[in-house]
Amino acid sequence: MRVTITMACTECGSRNYMTTKNKRNNPQRLELKKYCPAHKKVTLHRETR
Ligand SMILES: [Zn+2]
Repeated sequence: MRVTITMACTECGSRNYMTTKNKRNNPQRLELKKYCPAHKKVTLHRETR
């Protein structure tokens, strides 16, 4: 049930993280606070396909 997803910065759109999620636990798009190298700060990252 685990699928690989990419986490992209919502401010600059750069794809900074690859991770997996459990589709049963998280049917919607994941949003996580992550460090963005382009901003050199923590921004909101959203799941992309
Ligand atoms: Zn960014």
